[in-house]
Amino acid sequence: MKKEFVIIGLGRFGGSIVNELVELDADVMAIDISPDRVDEFAHIATTAVAADTTDESALRSLGIRNFEHVVVAIGENIQASILTTLILKEIGVKRITVKAQNDYHAKVLRKIGADQVVHPERDMGKRIANNLVSNNILDYLELSDEYSIAEIRANEKLAGFTLIELDIRAKYGVNIVAIKRGAQILVSPQAIEEIQLNDILIVIGSDLDIHRFEKKALH
Ligand code: ATP
Repeated sequence: MKKEFVIIGLGRFGGSIVNELVELDADVMAIDISPDRVDEFAHIATTAVAADTTDESALRSLGIRNFEHVVVAIGENIQASILTTLILKEIGVKRITVKAQNDYHAKVLRKIGADQVVHPERDMGKRIANNLVSNNILDYLELSDEYSIAEIRANEKLAGFTLIELDIRAKYGVNIVAIKRGAQILVSPQAIEEIQLNDILIVIGSDLDIHRFEKKALH
């Protein structure tokens, strides 16, 4: 059975989620208050509907409750985003993901029961900044305020050594959870695995430890 999603707010963020979900063969109901935006997605989404989602009866009449997951991608109008989330929660939607505009917005969303709060601009800014400060950090994914996953390119200082020789976990407090080597991916590499030049190490740890590892082990 296909997965079913509702995306509310068809700006750049919501719109790109709709496009991607359709590519991934999911059923998508796309909703926006603006009929022009809805028209844009009429031939892309499974159904596209013009509705004000702060109107509870409008939301109920769309049968939102039957969908597995609803994404609220209303950005600038924080009031509409909060009210929509509150109504979805009251209707009994099982899983709600909401785009937050700032930290206060995120706090309120968590308080009223949003299952997942995302900050796309902030997170993307962080990923790009980490990549800018270090040529070795290829990507950076925040798991929480404190912990992240980073993709770090192995240089000549690491190449030729096994994980046990480098003793990365004890020395830096980070774990190598996988190694990308060309098209190959070694998941949970063994301690005797020898790192090769240009391997991409997928490391998990606190931001502090990841940066310590990147600074000390690679320079
Ligand atoms: P992006 O950066 O993703 O383009 P944004 O931060 O500019 O988004 P907005 O344009 O404020 O976000 O909102 C996204 C969409 O949400 C808009 O297309 C807007 O019409 C829609 N929207 C706003 N309020 C409501 C509402 N009450 N009901 C349904 N859709 C709404």
